[in-house]
Amino acid sequence: MPVKFLDLQSQYRRIKPEIDHAIQAVIDDTAFAGGPYVERFEREFAEYQGIDHCVGVGNGTDALEIALEALELPPESEILVPANSFIATAEAVSRAGHRVVFCDVHPHSYCLDVADARRRLTPATAAVIPVHLYGQPADMPAICQFAKDAGLRVLEDCAQAHGAQIGGQPVGTFGDAGTFSFYPGKNLGAYGDAGAIVTNDGNLARRCRLIANHGRSSKFDHEIEGRNSRLDGVQAAVLSAKLAFLDDWIARRQQAAQLYMQELAGVGDLVLPQPQGNVRHVWHLFVVRTGHVEQLADFLAERQIQTGRHYPLALPKLGAYSHVGQQAESGFAWKADRELLSLPMGEHLDEQMVLEVIAALGEYFDQSGDGGVL
Ligand SMILES: *Cc1c(COP(=O)(O)O)cnc(C)c1O
Repeated sequence: MPVKFLDLQSQYRRIKPEIDHAIQAVIDDTAFAGGPYVERFEREFAEYQGIDHCVGVGNGTDALEIALEALELPPESEILVPANSFIATAEAVSRAGHRVVFCDVHPHSYCLDVADARRRLTPATAAVIPVHLYGQPADMPAICQFAKDAGLRVLEDCAQAHGAQIGGQPVGTFGDAGTFSFYPGKNLGAYGDAGAIVTNDGNLARRCRLIANHGRSSKFDHEIEGRNSRLDGVQAAVLSAKLAFLDDWIARRQQAAQLYMQELAGVGDLVLPQPQGNVRHVWHLFVVRTGHVEQLADFLAERQIQTGRHYPLALPKLGAYSHVGQQAESGFAWKADRELLSLPMGEHLDEQMVLEVIAALGEYFDQSGDGGVL
């Protein structure tokens, strides 16, 4: 049986009536940009994340960029960003007129290493952007304490962590603001691009809303020059429909993760994820570390098991960041990138599929011995 990395088709088949109805309603009302469906989703998502304000925007990258702009940091500020993330986290910093400073990530959580971040402080450092990578919250209590001591603003990149919590407190509520992506493949995904900014700071929310909608404070008054990055009605309606299923889907991801954790312990050279104490890990990705990434990916592909890599090159090594001059550092993130392999993960997985992936991994290492050379 093939095991897909992600299966949006099977998801749609299971919720087709809800989705079709949601989309048709927006068309019937011609509520395409702004309007009641956007307001409704903003309200529902704020409630879900346990936060006062939610501002829908065009995508998760814009959410980061707009939130950064709304923080009104001095131009060309240095912003601390983890070296292991999707490029969007760093891109938003440069686009907002600031300078990226890459920090190492912690070998257990793959999230920002606070001690390393502290070493990179300069008088120009103005903010830190922890990423709740793979669905696991970064160590927000430590990061917030560090930011407070150093006088930094905190923007949480929650693109992979809808519903994740630390000690019952949702991500996005620890820092000044949190940003979400609803890219189709995320745990809560739209049927196109979409994103949001969440915050308890009413003024910050208002500034984000202004920036995302041409600086418009009323129909004909533009207080500032902004841009156009709005959440559209069809996406909002799809997201509202899907939000009702999110907790069930997270539970299914947790079940799959638990089975992987239980059955893959001690298999070959696999280093399994380490959920930190007291967190609700929402398992956007299940990433293992191995010295056999390419061979394993090929072996699994032959058995119709899809895998991914997140991310095969640490951000500082990308051509886009050669000017930053951090490509040759030697921290964990700089070494681990080539060893990261993402196994199938999602609410589409049933026990049979997870066991199939586990069996194939076992087979690979049985054949290869601990050296792993086929
Ligand atoms: C997906 C993602 C983004 C960007 O979101 P888009 O909606 O694709 O723009 C930002 N940060 C991280 C960590 C992501 O995974």
